[in-house]
Amino acid sequence: MFFYGLISARVARIRCAPLASRHHEALPQKRVTSRILSALVTALFIGCAAVTFQAPGPATAPPVPGHPTNLLLALDGISYQQFLQARQRGMLRGFRPPVPLISTFPSLTSTAFSSMVQPVGYPPSPGYENRHYDWGRNKVGGGIPYLHFPWHDYFEIDPNTLSHKTLGYCWPRRLARADFREVERQALELDRGFITAYLSNTDAFAHLHGKSGALEVLRLLGEMVPKLKAAYQHRYKRPLYVTVLTDHGQSVVKQRPVTGLKRHLRLGGFVPGSSIKNDRSVVVVPFGYVSAGMLFLRHRFQRKLSRWLVRLDGIDLCTYRRDDGVIVIIGRNHREALIEARGTADGLELRYNDLQGDPLEYGEIRERLRKRGCLGPDGFAEAREWLEESAFASYPDALFRLYDAFHNKAIENTATVIFSTATGRAYGHPITRALSWLRAGKLDSTHGGLDSDGSLGAVITDNPVMPLPMAFRFDEILPFAERYGKPPDAKNWPAAPPETENYLATGASAQ
Ligand SMILES: [Zn+2]
Repeated sequence: MFFYGLISARVARIRCAPLASRHHEALPQKRVTSRILSALVTALFIGCAAVTFQAPGPATAPPVPGHPTNLLLALDGISYQQFLQARQRGMLRGFRPPVPLISTFPSLTSTAFSSMVQPVGYPPSPGYENRHYDWGRNKVGGGIPYLHFPWHDYFEIDPNTLSHKTLGYCWPRRLARADFREVERQALELDRGFITAYLSNTDAFAHLHGKSGALEVLRLLGEMVPKLKAAYQHRYKRPLYVTVLTDHGQSVVKQRPVTGLKRHLRLGGFVPGSSIKNDRSVVVVPFGYVSAGMLFLRHRFQRKLSRWLVRLDGIDLCTYRRDDGVIVIIGRNHREALIEARGTADGLELRYNDLQGDPLEYGEIRERLRKRGCLGPDGFAEAREWLEESAFASYPDALFRLYDAFHNKAIENTATVIFSTATGRAYGHPITRALSWLRAGKLDSTHGGLDSDGSLGAVITDNPVMPLPMAFRFDEILPFAERYGKPPDAKNWPAAPPETENYLATGASAQ
């Protein structure tokens, strides 16, 4: 990830002609023992897991008399679409309208949070998720014993433990309700200017119960927030603003497994295993049941592997980084494109070069940028312009996310090839898949891929002074939330508009 220092200032900046509409648009719709056992293993492998590395500690700030306190609450795995649906049902009316938060690729919990906290000074995570391949040790590690990933340290309130997570897969509704009560209880004890909190069991609820689970989470959120705000105001004599963010979306369809991956690799002349012994060795680290997969191999055969793997039923596209830094996308039916990047004084510029068949379906997006005057004669456009033009596309902000997937420093052990699965298809650990079938609710949704449903998390706030762009990218949100959430320094706390007091008094939407 590049150019973090420019991010918050660039969120609202427009170099070329503005989009026809920058309003928020609805996306197209797209028994105890066995239970505990299944939940334990599901939790271990699901990919969104509680997980210790030294880090700066929680992002807090002391209280300043007369200035509101801001609570930044991260809910795992609730999609932008689900926030919109909740609003349509009359929930969360005390908040301003939700804004999409575009996740990383792969759109996985630890990958997303590691990349979110990096711009505010937190160290990288060793892998995409807890169970990961380590290039230096040439082996797969993590999972059990569990590693503590540094991004957790950003959050002062984090009732998430492995046992808590496991129980969350047994009784997700009960645990989600208990988690909200815990946030309310702990936040009320914190006389701070800025408070951070993270709840993970919301993702379990969404995985297991799909749309109804997510809506129940948001209903609980809508119940908790007004109570907490009133209690905080009463105790500390200053208002509490709440900003909620989520790390990725959910593809809310029943998932069919991508099967036979290792057999397919062998048929292609590769040797799947747990370490790299020669040019044909491929390490695959399945975990959870998600819509992406990471493969580790020497670069010599990364192109051959990508072209072969995309022929497997259920794979949508494969992507890898060439030695010159260019990102290659291999789609089905011989579709292929390149993503090229260059740094400028203003930031990062990206070019989409569809060599054959436009695998990302970005031809029209590029044309719209050209018509707005945002595309240079050589085909490069600013990364932020690509984001704004593609935030609601089938693959939101794909150019930057794919570039970042192989160039960022938030994940230490980067994969050689990453694949994204087709809609309704998921890849993961066979145990997770088998145990998901034992669950009465099954896994009704997942995430991880480049697709819109799985990629769009959300930001929703009742902070009346926080400007809201049409969409946030994962590396923008925390510097932005801190800038408008922490008390002065006057320079990072703009004067509240006059309607602030009325807004607080009525609980009405600020927009
Ligand atoms: Zn997550």
